[in-house]
Amino acid sequence: MLKGKTALVTGSTSGIGLGIAKALAAKGANIVLNGFGDVKGPSAEVSALGVQVDYHGADMSKPAEIEAMLKFAAERFGRVDILVNNAGIQHVARIENFPVERWDAIIAINLSSAFHATRLALPAMQAANWGRIINVASVHGLVASAEKSAYVTAKHGVVGLTKVTALENATTGVTCNAICPGWVLTPLVQKQVDAKAAALGLSNLDATKLLLGEKEPSLQFTTPEELGELAVFFCSPAANNVRGVAWNMDGGWTAQ
Ligand code: NAD
Repeated sequence: MLKGKTALVTGSTSGIGLGIAKALAAKGANIVLNGFGDVKGPSAEVSALGVQVDYHGADMSKPAEIEAMLKFAAERFGRVDILVNNAGIQHVARIENFPVERWDAIIAINLSSAFHATRLALPAMQAANWGRIINVASVHGLVASAEKSAYVTAKHGVVGLTKVTALENATTGVTCNAICPGWVLTPLVQKQVDAKAAALGLSNLDATKLLLGEKEPSLQFTTPEELGELAVFFCSPAANNVRGVAWNMDGGWTAQ
């Protein structure tokens, strides 16, 4: 379905981004990976699916590096057809204690990076009259939790950016939608489980059960593979007129 297309997935060396990259690759898309940490492992996992893979290590908090990455992807593959704005970080603290440097980093990486990558990817998509922009927001783009001021603010912003991007391109073949996961057991969430276990003197299993029980009625994590299939759907012809949605996959979190 996506043979001949190129997908750039930010923050795809781990977790949800890697899951989405693999799902798009399984449908034939060439992939540009991005993110920190081990690159060889994720690259091998994606290229095992029979597509071409490359990597750019842009720090998504730095607009000049995002611009260099978009240039690199266009030179390597001709065009970015699918942009997945996924890179993100978390920090948990009450507002009065929230480190200013963490606020700035979360807004830059979780929100502004999506604006920069989108503005740089759009012209080629518009010229081709086909493009897919998928923003990985969160249930925290729809509802709030205490101690996550920067994250909730950034994710609500991402949902807003998704709608504006969709509207500005509504008469074209370029669509933009957001995915809003509940809990997904990635390094980002494992840190929160670990903090809960340490604070309350619980085992990893009990801290995990408590975390799920507080918010997610299904008491199950959503998986990167499930989120990858939603991204594949957004790229399919059936989703040609799905524009500006914030689609939660959250075990009932926001139905409450
Ligand atoms: P993760 O920590 O497994 O992956 C984050 C990725 O972003 C990694 O590849 C990391 O290297 C990359 N990254 C971090 N800072 C970066 C930077 N400055 N520049 C470039 N890359 C950077 O986390 P995840 O859970 O897979 O999160 C992915 C996205 O999903 C995030 O936007 C997160 O907010 C969102 N999300 C996660 C959950 C969850 O429960 N895990 C729920 C809802 C939304």
